[in-house]
Amino acid sequence: MTSFDGFGLAEPIARALRDEKYVTPTPIQAQTIPLALGGRDIVGIAQTGTGKTAAFALPILNQILKTRRAPEKKTCRVLVLSPTRELAGQIVDSFKAYGRHMKVNVTLAIGGVPMGRQVRALIDGVEILVATPGRLLDLVRGNALRLNKVDVLVLDEADRMLDMGFIHDIRQIVAKVPAERQTLFFSATMPQAIAQLAGQMLRNPAEVAVTPVATTAERIEQRIVHVDHAAKVSMLSTILKSEPIDRAIVFTRTKHGADKVVRNLARANITAEAIHGNKSQGQRERALASFRQGRVRILIATDIAARGIDVDGISHVVNYDLPNVPESYVHRIGRTARAGADGIAISLCTPDEAPYLRSIEKLIRMKIPATGEQRTAAPQHKPRNGVRAAGPRAHAPGREGERPSGERSGRRRRRNRNGSPGQKSVEHRPAAKDAAGQHGRPRGAQSRGRSDQHPRP
Ligand code: AMP
Repeated sequence: MTSFDGFGLAEPIARALRDEKYVTPTPIQAQTIPLALGGRDIVGIAQTGTGKTAAFALPILNQILKTRRAPEKKTCRVLVLSPTRELAGQIVDSFKAYGRHMKVNVTLAIGGVPMGRQVRALIDGVEILVATPGRLLDLVRGNALRLNKVDVLVLDEADRMLDMGFIHDIRQIVAKVPAERQTLFFSATMPQAIAQLAGQMLRNPAEVAVTPVATTAERIEQRIVHVDHAAKVSMLSTILKSEPIDRAIVFTRTKHGADKVVRNLARANITAEAIHGNKSQGQRERALASFRQGRVRILIATDIAARGIDVDGISHVVNYDLPNVPESYVHRIGRTARAGADGIAISLCTPDEAPYLRSIEKLIRMKIPATGEQRTAAPQHKPRNGVRAAGPRAHAPGREGERPSGERSGRRRRRNRNGSPGQKSVEHRPAAKDAAGQHGRPRGAQSRGRSDQHPRP
């Protein structure tokens, strides 16, 4: 399907897509939308960034329009489960944007914020509820919500749900929704445990898949920098000062490690913010907003906190620590090269992380080129006064002299695989940068702001 017209979506939805300037369905949308419109259960293997939110949101909105009725009190017709609060908020934004011409009734139920407002929002019932599993169960147990009227159940990022220990919550929730329903199940990877869960939840599902995990990395320029443990911090600041960074996410394995990296970078005159599970919801949102708006160009994150963050224009992913679960590497580097852009992923690897590197290379079926020589603690990198993270390039490990400064856009254009400068290498375009410099989510959602969905604690 090369245009949205062929899906037969209702006019208000088609109009919203025109507002969004979506012209061509992404591959996951082309595969999923006709099947979901036909009422099929779906198991989809797709990462965030492939357009999967619209792939499930558009057929759901279409179904709501076709069968519109007032929801019963304290019930919802569509339940979308998300592993993280951030992703849940983004899904709500997407539903609101695509449903803007049909006054869709969509509510967010996430932890980390007081429950009263969510309880009140549910009193008269809602059409679409997007929730994280723990808070959803709290609402059910508190008699604020019944799940017996759910027609469509969406499970987003199922593999991450499993990683985050939500499997029991998911099973409890599934037991409470009617057996007669449509289920749309999405996961970036399909390990056995996820395949089993899908097998239990879905009825004769159609399988759709885009960018299998092993090939996701193709558009991303990957590099390994071998480094001694003691030289990691100085190597990180060298990379951040020398690379042409628009926005970078730096991954650490632990929350404590994330905070430590922020402090160490501050000593090297590099401003960064951390986002992880020990931060309050308000802190996480403020850090994310600064990052989105370009006030902070470097975000330090743990895997779980970063999961589902939908920010376009991330030029670099840096793995300060290599993940011990190889699939996490693919999730991490997938934060860049979103919506058709290219990206750079640089991973520091200490000698004791070498086994992790081997597992990653096995999974992605390629050897990641190493740059630079083995770095040891001495000589220490000396911060260059006044040079910020995105300032003039100092010295890119192993790449010095390859390209003169100021050539970034040209280089990025040249790396598009279709060979036509300025064109995207995949079928869909990201939402354009708006006046505030924000990228990413559908325009309508951004312009309305998020304060209604995320009350500050
Ligand atoms: P998702 O994978 O759902 O997080 O979507 C990734 C990004 O792609 C979001 O910023 C969407 O607004 C954008 N997007 C989704 N579908 C399309 C499309 N068909 N054309 C252009 N942009 C799209």
